[in-house]
Amino acid sequence: MTVTAADIRSITAARFETPQKFLDFCANDGQPLGGIIGNEFVSGTMNATFETADPGSLEVLARVCEMGQAEVDAAVQAGLRAFHGNGVSGWKNFPVDERCELVMKLVELAERDRDVLLACEVRDGGKLSELAEGDFDQIRACASYFCDVARRIPLGDSAAQEVAPGIQGYSTREPWGVVAGIIPWNYPIVLTSWFMFPALLAGNCVLIKPAEDTPLSALYLGRLAIEAGFPPGVINVLPGRGELTGQFIAEHPQIRYISFTGSPGVGQHILRTCDRHGTRVKREMGGNGAAIVLDDADPELVARMIGRHANQHYGQTCCTVHRVFVDQKIADDFIDAERTFLNELKIGYQADEGTQLGAVINATQRRRILQAQQEAARRGGQPILPGGPAEVAGRDGYYVRPALFRTSPGIDCNPTEVFHTFTVVCPVSSAEQALELANRSPYGLGASVWTKDVQRGVELARQLRDGTCQVNCHNMIAYGLPYGGQGISGGPGAGVNCEDTFRDYTQVKAMYVADYPGS
Ligand code: NAD
Repeated sequence: MTVTAADIRSITAARFETPQKFLDFCANDGQPLGGIIGNEFVSGTMNATFETADPGSLEVLARVCEMGQAEVDAAVQAGLRAFHGNGVSGWKNFPVDERCELVMKLVELAERDRDVLLACEVRDGGKLSELAEGDFDQIRACASYFCDVARRIPLGDSAAQEVAPGIQGYSTREPWGVVAGIIPWNYPIVLTSWFMFPALLAGNCVLIKPAEDTPLSALYLGRLAIEAGFPPGVINVLPGRGELTGQFIAEHPQIRYISFTGSPGVGQHILRTCDRHGTRVKREMGGNGAAIVLDDADPELVARMIGRHANQHYGQTCCTVHRVFVDQKIADDFIDAERTFLNELKIGYQADEGTQLGAVINATQRRRILQAQQEAARRGGQPILPGGPAEVAGRDGYYVRPALFRTSPGIDCNPTEVFHTFTVVCPVSSAEQALELANRSPYGLGASVWTKDVQRGVELARQLRDGTCQVNCHNMIAYGLPYGGQGISGGPGAGVNCEDTFRDYTQVKAMYVADYPGS
């Protein structure tokens, strides 16, 4: 692997100017933004609204209508009508090329309005432009990949075989019907795309439930879907709180499949709710990523590369590095270099030039992070950078300093995911000890091994209990390879972004057909 300058510096903001079109969309002629059901904007029978704000400045961006039980049901019924159509013209019967055409039309419209969608990520999500631009590119990448998959994986009947005298048997693969995607706030555009495109291309009608902190990109994509010409009911967007709108989705017996991305606790709750009425659930959940650094690694280079990953979206990335197990021979140098890297991060407003560490998404997250920093010290972690609140001149956002702790094998000072630039380094005496400690966590999303001996790295990485195992890289995701979690980080299901993801959005039935007895 060639190391570039970008690999060893933190993701950095360019100055971001908010486009007028975004402000007009948010203002919505003075009305709160409605949900989208059957291609209509809906204010909801609860007459309830909520505000969505810029986490770096606390400026309220828009007022959004909250969808209640009646709206969830209306969206399901709209989805079912669109799915079945009049028996021949439903979304489930659309030829795959026509589904692909509509999906790619939506991609083109998103690219036309790239600046608006970037503003959704930067202003509503608190994201740096460099990261937001990479996220935006996932819209086309994901749609193109799944169009290709949809053309390759046939739905319908397999070849029939005689399974008993006079009885033909075959399998048939078909979409579920109405499926829902429950999306978290940290990667709204990416995770909406990862859910929506495979689900739609497999022939399902979708309900998108964006996170209450970042509803704007899904609402904007919903508008673009209407403009692209998706039939009413194929794409519905239901903004609202998790315990309300999300809960009504989980409780609805006619939703056949739910794709949930979020925290393990909520995922477990949704699984239990859905199990009561048989809705299938696929869950992509949090991580507490480990990196193992062997004694032959260059401590300074690897500390910078790991630091970059630890600070991706200020550590609010599910698979990022929070635990580092480094050989004791190079541990002091590694910790020194990591401290320098994290200490030099420029804390600032996410839309200002040069910012590397912006505000976290909301007050609750900020409080949790500050508590976790104190808890790490209470559990015996030695603070190298203690964290704590940060101030940014002229901005009232939720700013927190990065934290770095040194620990030892007997002390686990971050047993749960801390969603920030929060790294705990544990010097170890051997790679085997590092592996044992890395695998002790109940999470299992992504982990990495860092060494000049790539073959040794692969041998160790194979033994990690994680859905994504990496050597000399981290936070890797590629279309065609599954991205999913083990342990409490995910499952069941294939994970996202691979052929089996597409199959997850279909059901397979066995068919047995015999002639009428005696005929
Ligand atoms: P969260 O679990 O609080 O919320 C996720 C979504 O679930 C939101 O839309 C929320 O409104 C909804 N929700 C909350 N309670 C609900 C309920 N009772 N019924 C139905 N829906 C409900 O997570 P978050 O704080 O928004 O996101 C951060 C978490 O997501 C972290 O743990 C992160 O690691 C994880 N994550 C995982 C992946 C992955 O691919 N594995 C990707 C991104 C984020």
